[in-house]
Amino acid sequence: LFNNGTIALLTAIKALDLKGEIITTPFTFAATPHAISWNNLDIVFCDIDKNSMCIDANKIEALITPRTSAILAVHVFGNPCDVKLIDKIVKQHNLKVIYDCAHAFQLHIDKKSICEYGDINMFSFHATKLFHTLEGGALTTNSIKLKEKIDLLKNFGIIDEENVDM
Ligand SMILES: *Cc1c(COP(=O)(O)O)cnc(C)c1O
Repeated sequence: LFNNGTIALLTAIKALDLKGEIITTPFTFAATPHAISWNNLDIVFCDIDKNSMCIDANKIEALITPRTSAILAVHVFGNPCDVKLIDKIVKQHNLKVIYDCAHAFQLHIDKKSICEYGDINMFSFHATKLFHTLEGGALTTNSIKLKEKIDLLKNFGIIDEENVDM
């Protein structure tokens, strides 16, 4: 859990140790590209799909360069991205994928939680979202190693009173 979605997203990018360029969508809240530039990474905007208003997964591959390290996609207004095609692309090109799920609390695809896709998913519990706690955010991941790293990043690298790792 985090104090908001933006800090969660900043931490997700940091935890994956991304480099170079991140492909993302221009149709989102400013926090999405801000999280990329605040990590000193370059933003590459990909056009959106006119029906879902999410990143057009068919246009991602043309934007991949040797500097690309990840895709940061947004499930706009609760419409899921084409997670299956994005999954295929990231596997083929050895990239990471983060989903900005700020609008996608409780979203399912084929009865699978939206959290089943991507390396890390970010949720926002800001007062303007579907489920909220006034302010708040969260990350989900299926990787225990990543969870442990995220917990350390949140706690200034403090493992215990005598060991500080970051
Ligand atoms: C609200 C929102 C954020 C930021 O979440 P906060 O909890 O307000 O920091 C990020 N991305 C999208 C798409 C949002 O709508």
